[in-house]
Formats: sequence, structure tokens, C-alpha cells
Amino acid sequence: MQSSPVPADEAARLRALRAIGLLDTPADPAFDNLVELIRSVFDASIVAISLVDAERQWLKAAVGIDVRETPRCDAFCAHAICQDGPLLVCDATTDPRFAGNPLVCGAPGIRFYAGVPLRPVDGLAVGALFIADTAPRVLTAAEHDRLIRFARQAEALIRHHQAALEARREHDALERAIARKQAVLNRAAVGIIRITSRGIIEQVNPFAQQILGYTADELLGRNVRVIMPSRWAEHHDEYLASYLKGRPPSVIGIGREVQALHKSGRTIPVHLAVSEVTIPGQEEVEFIGILSDLSELYRAREREQAQHRLLHVLHRGMTDFATLMSSDQLWSFLKDALCDLTGSDYALIGEVVPVEGRPGLKIHAITDLSWNEDSRRLMERLSSGDMMLTNPDSMLGRVFAGGEVVMTNDLGAETRRTGFPHGHPPLHNYLGVPIVDQGQVIGMYAISNSRNKVDEELLAWLEPFTATCALLINLYRRINEQARFTRELEIAHAKQAQASRAKTEFLSSMSHELRTPMNSIIGFSQLLLNNRRQPLPERQAGQVEQILKSGQHLLTLINDILDLARIEAGRLVFSIEPVEIAAVIEESVASVSTLAEARGIDIRLPPASAARHRVLADYTRTKQVLINFLSNAIKYNRDGGRVELGWAPVEDGGLRVEVRDTGIGIPADRIGELFQPFNRIGAEHSVIEGAGVGLALTKQLVEQMSGQVGVSSVHGEGSCFWFELPLAAGDEAVPMVAPATAQPLADDDEALRPRVLYVEDNPANQRLMTDIFEDFARAQLSCAHEAALGIELARAEQPALVLMDINLPGMDGYAALAALKADAATRHIPVVALSANALPADVERGLAAGFADYLTKPLDFARLYAVLEHHLGNPPDA
Ligand code: ADP
Repeated sequence: MQSSPVPADEAARLRALRAIGLLDTPADPAFDNLVELIRSVFDASIVAISLVDAERQWLKAAVGIDVRETPRCDAFCAHAICQDGPLLVCDATTDPRFAGNPLVCGAPGIRFYAGVPLRPVDGLAVGALFIADTAPRVLTAAEHDRLIRFARQAEALIRHHQAALEARREHDALERAIARKQAVLNRAAVGIIRITSRGIIEQVNPFAQQILGYTADELLGRNVRVIMPSRWAEHHDEYLASYLKGRPPSVIGIGREVQALHKSGRTIPVHLAVSEVTIPGQEEVEFIGILSDLSELYRAREREQAQHRLLHVLHRGMTDFATLMSSDQLWSFLKDALCDLTGSDYALIGEVVPVEGRPGLKIHAITDLSWNEDSRRLMERLSSGDMMLTNPDSMLGRVFAGGEVVMTNDLGAETRRTGFPHGHPPLHNYLGVPIVDQGQVIGMYAISNSRNKVDEELLAWLEPFTATCALLINLYRRINEQARFTRELEIAHAKQAQASRAKTEFLSSMSHELRTPMNSIIGFSQLLLNNRRQPLPERQAGQVEQILKSGQHLLTLINDILDLARIEAGRLVFSIEPVEIAAVIEESVASVSTLAEARGIDIRLPPASAARHRVLADYTRTKQVLINFLSNAIKYNRDGGRVELGWAPVEDGGLRVEVRDTGIGIPADRIGELFQPFNRIGAEHSVIEGAGVGLALTKQLVEQMSGQVGVSSVHGEGSCFWFELPLAAGDEAVPMVAPATAQPLADDDEALRPRVLYVEDNPANQRLMTDIFEDFARAQLSCAHEAALGIELARAEQPALVLMDINLPGMDGYAALAALKADAATRHIPVVALSANALPADVERGLAAGFADYLTKPLDFARLYAVLEHHLGNPPDA
């Protein structure tokens, strides 16, 4: 037996066989009926429709044979499919292809076979329709044709089956697609709503139902306006209509954030994307809206913004508290921050202060919730902190007195609250939080009508705010305390200053009052002592001398006190100019020499060849300082002791003048007390006279002249008191060169020469002027070292001109001018000011006061000569 042949298009043929989907399918009456019909037509014992698979033949329908399947190699059909036309085997036993075939040799013992290849699709033979018999047979031509027609019918059946199969497959696929879509719709995490072109809801998926709070039944068939807030709902129909007429869309095909209306009436932020859908075969378009719930996103955004605001509040509270406090904005800032942070209508914040030993609440800031005039007045009192709340059982009291956090979202149901008066705005929720510092309630805040419910989460979120409040209240208290302290201090200072002014005024007026009688005492004592015609008996002279000495001592003391008082009051005027220190020393030593001689004390000056120096100082005051040091060096010396004077420039551009003595010295532990007014450091118990004013005044005088004083001392051996004053620029002698323009006047008859009076306390200046007048032959010069003497001389000598220094000890130049002008005897004499006060304002003031001219120091010689000539050229009006 030969093995079955394989057709050339085997692979394609097998693909076609798979495609028709008939293999191994259950019995199909259409095929069964066909084979039944063929058997009756041909009266054959076996009829079957065979499908030739790769390794087998499988019978889709068969009669007269029990097996459904045989190996391909045994199948006659495997041969049939290789032919174009039918395969006819009249007697298999004589056909070498089939003689050994088990179906021929064994059961069912086939002899006759007639098979037509079945090519249902694309001419590919998937099997064969055959008839067979166990006896040899020959087909007639008519039978042959008929068999072929049956084969065509079988092919049609196969194609039909295939089409049905494909239709079913398509249907299944469609069903699956629909199911998938439904699943997508049902389970999508976005809301999907389909509406008609007239806005009627046709479909709404579960997610949309969940977002909107409706069931599908509640929405289907209703206008989509039901889920829109009124401001959009009103215009929706209109909008759809105009869109359908071609107006550009605002949501359709674009998508944007809008508000949807929940069944409960609240609005929900959603993202809405609407697409227009055209259904094939349907004229009207539809719209599909895809809604995404943005509530969570909004909440997250809100939380983030709230967090931002909280941080901002904390930051501002910490960094800007000084401004907030100074402008009294702290409390309203915190109150407003609370409203803003919690989205509340009302807030208050206050501080806990004890009221009769129990905690009371002083409200610092509160949102105005007044509803009439009475309540407005109450709010004003509350917010001004003028009213204390003390009831520990109220909604506030439980917080500030009990330290309890009070939290309710239904204030109406709160049984423990005291009722609200008629007209009070409704409050629904309330949160009261104590502000605690080191275990003590120092304040509280409360909010009401918060947009969100008040809960533990909110409380926890507010914790940093609460902590900041605690910090700020503490700071507020401390700053207030400090401000109070500063105020008290200021008041104390003012009182002290007033007392000190009063003291100064008292001292200065007392000293003035004392000076006048002192002048008489001294004056008459001198008269008594100097009376040559009726000299006093020796004993009385001694007594008067004592009166004179004591008077002089008292006068010095009074003068010192007066000066000290003037310095303290800032009323002592200094005439700062270059002062030759050797000259001051010389004069000072001369003043104390009698005192020194009386006790056998040797005053030693530097050799005459010592360097000469000039300091910038007030001549008279410098002398006062030196005389003070010198008289102390004598007073606190031992009899027969020594006082040494010296000076030398110091590093910082000053000159140090030292007065050394070999006296009692000062105990080291008391040196610090020197220069204190009225402190005599123990000398009050000695016989040495004094009042403890000299050194204090000395120090003040030197400091006023931009200098300093100091001392070093060895107790029992002696002391060295020193002062330093700034060196004058150039620090050299004033050139005494007469200008070339100075012309000696023709008339040099001494008696006829007019007299010029120079009132000047500084001897160096006096000397300079004397030198100038030696060359200026036209006039003769007299000098007075103080104003009172100057006035006397003016009266007596009737000078043609007075040159007046301004800063004179005691009476100054202005007072002297006024005195001269007030006196008929001197009124006519021109008075020219000569001063170191050289500012234009000084000159103006001088001229306005009545000086005939105003010359400034250092002297401009040409100006001096011009002034002299001008005034001396005009003889006085008698
Ligand atoms: P007074 O001499 O009127 O007491 P001062 O103010 O001049 O007042 O001096 C204050 C005190 O300083 C003196 O009482 C004396 O105890 C002490 N003192 C001043 N100068 C000397 C000195 N050269 N040697 C020792 N003690 C002195």
C-alpha cells in the first residue's frame, strides 16, 4: 500500500481547514441531513463528509461507519483532496493505492469509493464528500454529476458554518467590548454623564452618582441643569442652543474647572471635559461629560495655603513683633490671623490677669459682632480691654480660668453655655484654646463660626500658633514692664534734674546774695587796716586782719560754689584762646607766695630757659585751676616743705602741668574720692581750712576746656596734682610785628594824645596790645583786667575809645557795655568789642548790642589800625 500523497498547497489548505472551524465540532443536523439524503439518493452503505487534518481525517457527518476519525494515511479522502475532480475507486482490492488499506482488508471491508474534494474557500481542499460500499460499483454519469452537486452543497454548508462562526465570534467580541465599556463606565474613577443635545441626562456612571450624591434613577431623564449651580444652570439651555448653532464652545472639547451642585446643595469643585459625540445613523448629537472631583485637590491646596498663611503669621509674629507692639497692632494682628487661618467669622484673643486673686480675662482684640447700639458699646469696652471677664463657668471662663480646651460644633446644643441675648448673631461652632506658658494659663483665644468643623486636627494644626501666642504675650509683658520701668526712670530723672536745677539755682542765688555783703566786709576791713591817719591799735588790727582773711576765704569759697553751679547749669562762658602757660604760672605763684612764705614753703619753678608753651584755654580759668592746686599744695604741706612746678607736652597733643608737694599725701584707698564736691577726705577733722569744693571745681573747669586732671600720691610723703590742656596750634609766641601801613601820628605830645582803654583779663593779650600802642604813637593805652575796673577807669580817664574783651571774669563785655551806656559820664565813649567769639552771629550780636565795631582774635592788625584811626579821628561829642 502506498502512503497518502500531500497536496502542494498543504500549509494553506490546513490554514483554511482551521479557519472554517469545523474540526471536532458537535453534530450538526444540517450536515447529518445532507449525508442521510445522499445515502438515500445513492443507496450507498457509507456516506461521509471528511475533513483531512494534518495527521488524520475527521468526519463531520457520516452514515454507515462508526468511527469518527481514522489516520490520514488510511484515508481515501487524503488521496481525493489531491485531485481536481472526484476520485473514483470501483474495486479497491484491484487498486494498488488501496489494496492493502486496513479499511479494505479489515472492517468495514471497502471496495467502492467515490470522493469529491471539498473546496469551500479559495479553492483549497479541506476534505472530501464521499460515498463508499463494501461491493465494487461503477457510477453512472448522472450519479457522478449528482455527487458533484452534493459536494457543492456541502461546500455551501461549510461556508455557511464558517460565516456563522465568524458572526458569532464578532458578536462575542462586540459583547466583550460592550462589557468592557460598561465596566469602564461603572468602575471608572471619573464621573461620566451622557446628555442629549437638549441637555437631558441619558447616562450617569456610578462615580458621577457618587460625586453628585444622586442615584442614577434620580438623574436619568432630568435636565443636566439639576447638577449645576444656579448661575450656570440659568444659561445652560441657551448655551447649548447657541453652541449647536455654531457659537465657539467654552467647555465643550476644552475642559476646565467648574462648580457642580451636589444633591445636598453644596457646590463641589470639578474638572469638566465635555465631548460632542455623533452617533452614526442618529441625527442629533450627544454630549459626554467627564467629571473629575477636585474637592480633595482643593482641600490639599487649601491645606497648603493655610500652612503657608500659618507660617507667614508665625514668621511675622517672630520677626516683626517690635513693630507690631510699638504700633499696638499685636493683638488685632493675632485676632485677624486666627480668623484667616481657621476661616472663622469671629475670633477673640486676650490675656489672663488676676482679678482679686482669681483669673480674669482682659480681651485685647475681638471681632465686632455687635447688632445694636448697646452691643456696640459693650464691644467697644471689651475690645479696649476695659472690661474684665471673670465668670469661670462661661464658655470663655472654662478656657481662661479652667485651662480647658472647649470645642463644639453645635453651640446650640451646648448645655453649659449661658444663653445669647436677643439679636446676637447665630454661632454654630466654637473653639476656645488656653495659651499656656510654663504650666500657667497666660491668655486664651477663641474662634466661632469656622467654615470647617472644629476638631482635634485643627487644634493640633494650631499648636505652633498657640505657642507663638504664648511667646508674644510673654514678650509683650516684658516690653510693657520695661516701658513702665523706663517711664518711672524718666520721671525719677526728671525729678532729679529738677532738684538739681533747683539746687544749682539756690546755690547761685545764695552765692550772689552772699557776695555783696562779703564785698563790704572785705572792703571795710581793708579800709580799716589801710587807714594811715587813724591806724588801728595793734590788737584790733590783728582782729580786723582775721576778719579780712576769713572774708577773703569765704569769698573764694562763694566764688568757687558759684562757678561750680554755673558749670552745672551750663552757664559758665569760657574764652578759649592761646594762653602762655609760663605767664599763668608766674601770676598764680605770685598770688600764693604770701601763703607759702608764711609757712616757709619753697615754691620751685622750672628754669627761665625752659621751653615756652601755649595752651588753648581760658586765661583766668587756667589761673584759677593753678592757684587751686598751688594753694592745696601749700595747705596740705608741712612747714618748710617744698612745692615744685613743671610742664611738658604729652603724646595726645596736650600740655601737662604738674604741681608736686612734699605734704601729707593721700591714703591710697581714698584717692578715688578726690574731685568729689564737698568731700574733704578726712581733712574736715584737721585744722586746715577748706570746704572740699576746690578740686571738684578744678576738674570741671579743666574738662570744660577740653582737658583732664589727675593725681598721684604717696601717703605721708606728698602728692602730684596735674592737669592737661590742649596745646595751641603752632604753639609759639605771637609775632609782634607792626604792619607797614601803620603810620605814627604826627602829634606825640603825651598829654594831648587821646587815651584808649583796653579791658582784657589775659595778660598776654594786654602785653600784646601794650606793644602795639608803643608803636602807635597817636594814642596812649590803659589796661583793666576786669570789667568793673574798666568801668571805673572809663569814668575817671574819659578815654577816646574803649577796646572791650567779651569773655571777662565776673561781669562780661556785654554787661560792661550796658553799664557804660547807662552812665551819662561814659555814654559817649565808643566801645569796640575785641573777642575770640568770631562767628558771624557773634559779630552781629555785638553790633546789635551797641558795640561801635567788632574786632576778632587773633588780631588783624590792619583792621585794628583802621578802627583806631576811624574812632580817634572823630573827637568825642562832649
Ligand atoms: P579743700 O581743700 O577746701 O578741703 P579741695 O577740693 O581743694 O577742698 O580738696 C579736697 C580734699 O583733697 C582736701 O580736703 C584734702 O583732704 C585733699 N587734698 C587736696 N589737695 C591735697 C594735697 N596737695 N595734698 C594732700 N591732700 C590734698
